[in-house]
Amino acid sequence: MKVPPPPILEELLRFYEENWRSEGYESPEEEANYKAYGRKLLTAFWEIHGRDFQMPLAVEKLFYIDIGGVKLRGFIDRVDKMESGALSIVDYKTNKELFTIDYLEKDLQLTLYQLAAEQLWQLPVAKLTLYHMRSNTPISCPGRGQLQLNDAKELVLDVADKINEQIFPATENDYCPCDFPEYCPYYRHLYIGETAETALEETPPPISGEQVERYVSIQAQIKALQEELEVLRQEIIDYCKAEEVNRVYGPENQITYQLAEMTGFNEDDVRALLEPENLWERVIGFDQSRLKQLLNDEAVARDIRDRIKSLRQVISTSQRLLVKKRQDEDKEV
Ligand code: SF4
Repeated sequence: MKVPPPPILEELLRFYEENWRSEGYESPEEEANYKAYGRKLLTAFWEIHGRDFQMPLAVEKLFYIDIGGVKLRGFIDRVDKMESGALSIVDYKTNKELFTIDYLEKDLQLTLYQLAAEQLWQLPVAKLTLYHMRSNTPISCPGRGQLQLNDAKELVLDVADKINEQIFPATENDYCPCDFPEYCPYYRHLYIGETAETALEETPPPISGEQVERYVSIQAQIKALQEELEVLRQEIIDYCKAEEVNRVYGPENQITYQLAEMTGFNEDDVRALLEPENLWERVIGFDQSRLKQLLNDEAVARDIRDRIKSLRQVISTSQRLLVKKRQDEDKEV
């Protein structure tokens, strides 16, 4: 097929200007910035690909596919017919980040495009490409294998089932908020004021922005106080240890320093004692409650029980500060 010449740059940019849509921008400055950036991308694209211009088989190709009774509709950015006769699919992306190979190989959108293209043209897809517009970088991989295509079909059926059953929890992603934030549990609160009059009487009182800010502020204060408390605690403990003092006094309160010891049994010691007596099975897995039962079991020789008790040892210590109000007579005068 004879390939027509590519459009000249001026023609391309004129088309861009004529088809520019102004909706959706937050300010005229934002729109102007995006428009200028788009012009820059198009110009760079034209400079690179004007030379190897090929007529694609299809662009912005609308497709409908049927997967086990579930109808999917979409648009494929570009489909080329390769010299081998197989198809090549390109999806143009304006993402900031360049894609990784892993992302490309797992991209569900491309997998679905392959299913659609193979159904539409009855030709195999041999190449899938994500084209990073910001850097004019294409990254490509071979078409999906049958296993991956089958997994995608199963996923579509599974998602369709969940939609039918009204199970579609919102899942936040890098592109949130989407175009439906007023229905999304993560963003709906921002819009609730607009629909407040429809709220049911039995719903809890609304949460205001002030309450949200107050919560955050209290949380920050608690964190700062906890840090201060920990520093003070350590200072009191260090003082009590260094001066061998067990209690310190303030005008109203007293704080008692205690070294609490946790006692328990060492598994190896207990096992060495119980195994020869054929009693180890009674405490399977060194279960402490079973060991306690055994210690209280009159049927077990007293001597053995006493020997087990003598194995009790300190297994950990912790430092405690106990706070108490001072009695009136304790207070300094
Ligand atoms: S903002 Fe949109 S895409 Fe993001 S979690 Fe909510 S519904 Fe999903």
